[in-house]
Amino acid sequence: MNLLSNHLAGRWQHGSGPGTPLFDPVLGTELARVSSEGLDLAEGFDYARETGGTALRALTYRQRAALLAEVGQVLQAHREAYYDISMANSGTTRKDSGVDIEGALYTLAQYAKWGESLGDARALLDGDAMRLAKDGTFQSQHLLTPVRGLALFINAFNFPAWGLWEKAAPALLSGVPVVVKPATATAWLTQRMVADVTAAGVLPPGALSIVCGSSKGLMDPLRPFDVVSFTGSADTAALIRSHVAVTRHSVRVNIEADSLNAALLLPDASPGSASFELLVGEVVREMTVRSGQKCTAIRRVFVPGHCYDAIAEAISAKLRGIAVGNPRSDGVRMGSLVSREQLDGVRAGLAQLREQAELLHDGASHPIVDADPAVAACMGPTLLGARDAHAASLVHEVEVFGPVATLLPYRDLGEAQALIRRGEGSLVASVYGTDPQQIAEAAAALADSHGRVHAVSPEVASLHTGHGNVMPMSLHGGPGRAGGGEELGGLRALNFYHRRSAVQAGAAAIERLAATGSRLTF
Ligand code: NAP
Repeated sequence: MNLLSNHLAGRWQHGSGPGTPLFDPVLGTELARVSSEGLDLAEGFDYARETGGTALRALTYRQRAALLAEVGQVLQAHREAYYDISMANSGTTRKDSGVDIEGALYTLAQYAKWGESLGDARALLDGDAMRLAKDGTFQSQHLLTPVRGLALFINAFNFPAWGLWEKAAPALLSGVPVVVKPATATAWLTQRMVADVTAAGVLPPGALSIVCGSSKGLMDPLRPFDVVSFTGSADTAALIRSHVAVTRHSVRVNIEADSLNAALLLPDASPGSASFELLVGEVVREMTVRSGQKCTAIRRVFVPGHCYDAIAEAISAKLRGIAVGNPRSDGVRMGSLVSREQLDGVRAGLAQLREQAELLHDGASHPIVDADPAVAACMGPTLLGARDAHAASLVHEVEVFGPVATLLPYRDLGEAQALIRRGEGSLVASVYGTDPQQIAEAAAALADSHGRVHAVSPEVASLHTGHGNVMPMSLHGGPGRAGGGEELGGLRALNFYHRRSAVQAGAAAIERLAATGSRLTF
């Protein structure tokens, strides 16, 4: 039995008991087991804070940035093993595995580069000093210092590689030790990456720990200066927010949760126009990459009423050509969902949406290539449609975390924006049009309810980064049901791992203070 080890208190430790199995979701075979039973979490957390935190804070931003670059090199050296694990444990094609693995490497490289620009400081200056006394002898300077606790990451199953490093890169650059708890279903890839980095001895002891298995008791040892970054469902997010450690110790929490992301085709589009085609291509991509298991994937597609039928046909035609099945088979473009449980969940969500929506393209019409449909967690992409977008309330409420999207017609832009807002806060909305003025107005109108607005126009057709791709330069997170969190966005990400303090002192002391810090500019 391959029981994956936990790395805690600076040493590898096995949990007790038989553990929870991890499966190949295509073949149904067991791959490994995880257990966190019997681990002394309090000891491990103390070690991370005291040994890892102290060592990291002794370094400058430039030195920590260099560590990130080294971590990237270690991961590069083992890259092929990550692709193998991803295909086996997540059921993804090589291309879809790359979204996770290359995304992780790219994000690490970016933070290594940005961190270098912060130089040899150990604290950051937030803004300029301000006068408190009229003559300037007494001033105030906002200072950002690394939090003196640990960063606990509780991650979702869909991005086991990127999900770790998009959080760990800014945390480690800030000087904050990391404890990651990957989602059980796909914990293997995260565990292997931590094992490789640990074996290479790149990071100081205690800087990176991992707990695989049950989350029972995970948050109990949290202390006032710790931070928690959670990615997962809104239901678990509610438990995290109300945990006694959070309510009693004011532990800072970042939540990335469900999202009913929208794509909006602007009103002047017509069937076959450039923006029409761009929307069709992007919707198909978002529905099928990682089998739609992306928090940013397009779930609702808003189109002018006169385009509804033509769009339904154009998307369906492209979906018909998607081969679904065993990702090891040539020609298969969409692999499986991460588990049979997820497949059941997606089918249940689809059945719910079907109460209020028509079937425009049936995923069940896809043969499952080179895999047993009774075993593999594979399903074809399904396009639904609701001609009355107001009445189809479930479409604006239920997140089906799989290859499913719903087409919704609108009469005018005001109505489309109101319907999009019924998602109650999302990670991303994409806008498709040709007129820069209209695009700018639509983006400004959607910005309050979305963490990111992604506009696609013909001149960026081959350059834009994709509706669902999270770029480290741009903010990731969204208001309302999306969790209210903020990640990435360049050096903005460092805010979460620093404590802001206002230092009020005489001008000479403020000047000395300013000389030791690096000014945080975005
Ligand atoms: P989940 O069931 O909420 O699990 C997320 C993580 O929380 C897992 O590591 C899970 O561990 C852990 N967990 C479960 N119960 C817990 C508890 N009581 N206390 C502490 N931790 C607990 O979500 P999921 O099914 O893995 O992920 C799918 C969801 O994530 C979707 O709804 C998707 O929208 C959302 N998501 C959001 C983003 C974003 O950036 N906004 C990104 C990806 C996914 P176990 O696996 O061991 O149960």
